[in-house]
Amino acid sequence: MSHIDLLNQPDFRRKLDQCIHCGLCLPACPTYSINQLEMDSPRGRIALMRAAADGRIGLDGAFQEHIDLCLGCRACETACPSGVQYGLLLETAKAGLAGAKEKGRRVTTAAPRATAAADNGAGHGSRPAPRALRLSNVIQQFGLRELMPHRARLRWLARGLWLYQRLGLTRIARRVLPSLPLALTTMEGMAPPIDLDFIDLTRPAPALAPQRGKVAFFTGCVQDAFLAGVNRATVRVLQRNGYEVHFPAAQTCCNAAALHSGDTTFAQALARQNIAAFPTDKFVAIVNNAGGCGAALKGYDHLLADDPAYAARARAFVAKVKDISEFLVDHLHNPPTGYVQARVTYVDSCHLRHGQKISRQPRALLRAIPGVELVELAQPDMCCGSAGIYNLLQPEMANQVLDAKLADIRVANPGIIVAANTGCYMQMIYGVKRGGLDATVLHVVELLERAYANAA
Ligand code: SF4
Ligand code: SF4
Repeated sequence: MSHIDLLNQPDFRRKLDQCIHCGLCLPACPTYSINQLEMDSPRGRIALMRAAADGRIGLDGAFQEHIDLCLGCRACETACPSGVQYGLLLETAKAGLAGAKEKGRRVTTAAPRATAAADNGAGHGSRPAPRALRLSNVIQQFGLRELMPHRARLRWLARGLWLYQRLGLTRIARRVLPSLPLALTTMEGMAPPIDLDFIDLTRPAPALAPQRGKVAFFTGCVQDAFLAGVNRATVRVLQRNGYEVHFPAAQTCCNAAALHSGDTTFAQALARQNIAAFPTDKFVAIVNNAGGCGAALKGYDHLLADDPAYAARARAFVAKVKDISEFLVDHLHNPPTGYVQARVTYVDSCHLRHGQKISRQPRALLRAIPGVELVELAQPDMCCGSAGIYNLLQPEMANQVLDAKLADIRVANPGIIVAANTGCYMQMIYGVKRGGLDATVLHVVELLERAYANAA
C-alpha cells in the first residue's frame, strides 16, 4: 500500500469525518497556544490530513511541516466533544510521512518556502533548519533501531554517561555546547545524574509482606538504563505491598518512539516480541511506570488487530497492562507511614492523562503520603514539551512549551516536582536547570519509597 493509499483508507476517513470543526480543542493545544496558527492546531492538522487523503496536497511542504510540529500529546482528544481519535489519526499520518520518506520523495527538503522562512528567522520562529532536521533524523533512526530495543547497549551508554559526569566533563561540555545544535544541548541538559545500580533482572524480587500475588514488571528501555532509581523504587514499593515481581527476560522497548516516527512495521515487531515475552496467565498485572510506555502497550490490540496470530494475544496482554499508579491505588495494602514534609506539584504525563485517562490515581497516592502538601498547577495537563523525543527533533518549539510549563511551576513554587513518565521526568530535570528552579524531580514511586524508608 502506498503512503497516499494509507490516508485514503475508509477507516481513516471515517475518523477524519468525526471532526465537526468546532474548534473546542484549540485552547488545549500547546503548539496552537504558541504559534496561534490554524495549521498548528488539531483542527488545522485534521484539515491537512483530509486534504492529503483527497489528493489535494502532497505529503511534503505544509503537511510535513505542521504534522511534524505536533507533539502528539493528545490534549485535543480529551477536549474534543465529538470523540475524535486524534492519536490514531496522527499515527496514520506519520506512517504516511515515513512511507513518503522511504520512497525517496525528499520530503524534508521539498518545502523551500517553509525552510526559507525558518532560515530567515521569519514565519513561526520555531522551524528547524534542514541541517538540524537531518541530524535529528539520524539521531532518531539510530536511537530507534540500534539503541532502544537493546537493553545491554543502553546500559553501556549509561555507564559512559556516568563516567562523563564523574570526570566533570559536563562543565567543559557546557562551554562548547552553545555552538552545537540545540538538540545536543537539550540532550545534555536532560541527562539525569546516572545511577548504575540497575535492577537485577535475572531473578524475581520476593514479596516483603504477606504475598498477594505475582506481577510482571515492564522495565522500559531508557528508564531501565538512565533512571534505574525509579525502577528500583517501583519494584520495592510493589514488594512492600506483598507482590513478587518478575522480569520476563525477552521484553523489549514498548514501541512508542517507533510509532511516533511512523515506523508501523517495526512497532508491530516490538509489540509481538513483548506479547510473546509476558505469559499473561501467570501474573495479576503487567506493571509499567512510564506514561508513554503504558499508552503504547495498551495500544497493542489496535496495532495487531489484523494479525490473526496475535490479535487475541494482544487483547489478553492489554487487559493485564497497568500503570504503577493505576495498580497501586487499588493495591496499596500497606500504605506508607513515614513523613515526607514537602510542597509537591504533580506534572501530568500527556500519555498517562490523555492517552490512558489516568490523572486521579497518582494524585491519590501522593495524598496518601503523610506530610506531603500537593499543590496543583494552573494547567497541570499542558504538555511539558518532552513528547518522546520531540524535544530532540523540534527543540525550539519544545523549549517554548517547556518555558510555559516552567512559568506555571514557578507560581506553584514546589520543593519537589513529581513526574510519571520517563520523558517528562528528564524534561523536568532539564527544566529545573533551564529555569533555575530550586526543586528536585521525583517519580510518584520514589516519593512513596522515601515515605516507607522514613518510617523505617
Ligand atoms: S496532539 Fe497536542 S500538539 Fe498535536 S494537535 Fe493535539 S493538542 Fe495539539
Ligand atoms: S477535533 Fe474535536 S474539538 Fe477539535 S475541531 Fe474537531 S470536533 Fe472540534
